[in-house]
Amino acid sequence: MKYVIALDQGTTSSRAIVFDETGAQVASHANEFKQIYPKPGWVEHDPEDIWSSQINALKTAVEKADISAGDIAAIGITNQRETTLVWDRKSGKCFHNAIVWQCRRTSPIIEQLKQDGYEQEIRRVTGLVPDAYFSGSKLKWLLDNIEGLRDKADKGEVCFGTVDSYLVWRLTGGRAHVTDATNASRTMLFNLKDQVWDKGMLRMLDVPESVLPRVVDSSQTVGVTEKSILGREIPICAMAGDQHAALFGQACFEKGMAKNTYGTGCFLLMNTGSEIVPSRFGLVSTMAWRLDGKPTYALEGSVFVAGAAIQWLRDELKIVTTAAETEGLARSIPDNGGVYLVPAFAGLGAPYWDMYARGTLVGLTRGTGRAHIARAALESIAYQSMDVLEAMTEDSGHPLSVLRADGGATANNFLMQFQADMLGIDVVRPRITETTALGAAMLAGRAAGLWNDAQLGGIWRSESVFTPSLPEETRAKLKAKWKKAVSKAERWTDD
Ligand code: ADP
Repeated sequence: MKYVIALDQGTTSSRAIVFDETGAQVASHANEFKQIYPKPGWVEHDPEDIWSSQINALKTAVEKADISAGDIAAIGITNQRETTLVWDRKSGKCFHNAIVWQCRRTSPIIEQLKQDGYEQEIRRVTGLVPDAYFSGSKLKWLLDNIEGLRDKADKGEVCFGTVDSYLVWRLTGGRAHVTDATNASRTMLFNLKDQVWDKGMLRMLDVPESVLPRVVDSSQTVGVTEKSILGREIPICAMAGDQHAALFGQACFEKGMAKNTYGTGCFLLMNTGSEIVPSRFGLVSTMAWRLDGKPTYALEGSVFVAGAAIQWLRDELKIVTTAAETEGLARSIPDNGGVYLVPAFAGLGAPYWDMYARGTLVGLTRGTGRAHIARAALESIAYQSMDVLEAMTEDSGHPLSVLRADGGATANNFLMQFQADMLGIDVVRPRITETTALGAAMLAGRAAGLWNDAQLGGIWRSESVFTPSLPEETRAKLKAKWKKAVSKAERWTDD
């Protein structure tokens, strides 16, 4: 038996999952690590924490699986996206903590770019909306704020990388300075169409070319791990950002297929094939993956508050003690009783884009109880996902025929059924819901020759299918009321 290991380096934990050659999960291990908040709105990770938590997860997962290093055919890496590191090309030492994607310290840089009229160009070249999330402004900040870094960079002594890049650098003992096209597409420095670092963007952000990694395919052998790590050299055969890996792990290989990850927030991606689809609703165009030099693109949108609304019920309102309880509560009443929660705790994203919106609970009557509020919170996850998917189908001109779901909140059968009802299409939950790790393993197994493209489709298997059963008339009424509720939440704080 041969095995593939996925390293899933996330925002709060580093995981390693061992898959066998049938695509079944054999063992896994995860380590949480420290979040560093130097100032309000600033978020950092210690690169040593990222590294040691990941290596420990790898070694522990291999031990738990009770396999020998010689049976490991490949390692695939998937990672928190956009998080930015810079290190010394000779010593490998990082010049600063990693600046995490959530960190807002570079908002002023982005505001300036917008004021200078660069928004359209950034959209056109990178597919992204200008935002401090993406690596470009973070890298500029590091070059501007670390003394002597620019000089060193000009001399070719500095490496920049996102987490995939940093892990590969260290795993290979500094022999490979690479990133894959999906991670590159989140830097705001990469030309989505031409598949190269964009000279205009580099000028705009004052980034010297010398620091950049070489861009490789998402499924390609980029080097081998140092022998000291697992006792023998293991090929590193894939790299992909977490959401991209999840789209692959959901086997959304054909144009028009989409997945939604239901976690703290929701992340929706739709495969748009070889075509870059510009969005009219503020979604971003991004890489899905690049295989054999051939790019596949995607539209991406997110819901800021999804599972977080359930945490709010549990931690602030205290009307449930576990997230899972919401399912029984929602089913204990025949309908929502006219109660709608718009969890715009942090404003509203696509397609509304209203930073002034705030959370709103409407339709309360004397008979409203905690079941109604729990149900309204679950329904809000489905309504918000519906709004993003409708924007995607309008942008792409492709009606969706099925939605593949993953993430922690997909355990909730009420939510899955209600999602299917509101979309009017099947919602499918796969057997392996760790789709991010599975996707990285599939990409790696493909490059290692373990699976061909036909076999990859067979690794993904459905566990449950939720089929819409709500009459069209009821669906239309619920949707109209939801839109009305959203209108009550909009522009709440703009005075
Ligand atoms: P993340 O990766 O964003 O941390 P997960 O995929 O682990 O998220 O999912 C956790 C989220 O899912 C939490 O916000 C939690 O409230 C929600 N959640 C977990 N189980 C359920 C459930 N049975 N019903 C509704 N929400 C749930």
